[in-house]
Amino acid sequence: MFINDYHIHSEFSGDSNQNMRDIFEKAISLGLDEIAITDHLEYDIEGMTEKWILNLDKYTKTVLEYQDEYRGKLDIKLGVEVGVQPHTREYLEEQVKKYPFDFVIASTHAINRCDLAWGELQKTKNKEELQRFYFETVLDNVKKYEQFSVYGHMDFVTRYGGPEYRGMDYHMHKDIIDEILRTLIHKGKGIEINTSGYRYKENRFYPCTDIVKRYFELGGEIITIGSDSHIKEYLTLDFDVAYEFLKSIGVSYICGFDKMKPVFKRIK
Ligand SMILES: [Zn+2]
Ligand SMILES: [Zn+2]
Repeated sequence: MFINDYHIHSEFSGDSNQNMRDIFEKAISLGLDEIAITDHLEYDIEGMTEKWILNLDKYTKTVLEYQDEYRGKLDIKLGVEVGVQPHTREYLEEQVKKYPFDFVIASTHAINRCDLAWGELQKTKNKEELQRFYFETVLDNVKKYEQFSVYGHMDFVTRYGGPEYRGMDYHMHKDIIDEILRTLIHKGKGIEINTSGYRYKENRFYPCTDIVKRYFELGGEIITIGSDSHIKEYLTLDFDVAYEFLKSIGVSYICGFDKMKPVFKRIK
């Protein structure tokens, strides 16, 4: 069966020390056909330290060199995970356009320079307010940002802030989530199933099954699966759950990407 992991971080990310070559060797040992390296590209977040500044020249050159070296053994795609904020969209689009990416994940990690992981946003908003604020920002990003293939972990707002911020109820934000999904579909963009939620003890992937189902119901077709691994041991973790789920809702394929174009691959 064709297996591709489309959300992987390496030592080029501010929050990973994972050597890139070791990722490729691990991927081969796991029998993967294809992977996308998607290191973090972030810009203008409060307190962002130097290690978070992605050297795009060096990064893309490194991935492309490995791509050549591993040709025939493992298909390596040049990807990136762009942390989009309303005020940084234009700058990030300019950056992304300069390089020959195969695949770009757009994610909302921070809003108004404030990283969700820090807990500042949670100080002034309860769970429902924070989720609303988060989805409003995602919608705004989805409408106005162009340089991406799939939206990353679309509802991972529940990951931070402790137990009282956990849990996603699609129906509570159905209006706005549907608008996000319709916009994505209209623009020919996809979503990812990000399996890291199992590791974050949420016992689910991002986004929740209701949102993935709804994306297909509304006519969406583009879906990738990613482990969001920051260490090689997490490659493809809990992918079996994602495949089973997709099959249970009648979806028999997943996507890879080549030069920003989706390539559909059958799952058996
Ligand atoms: Zn992310
Ligand atoms: Zn990530």
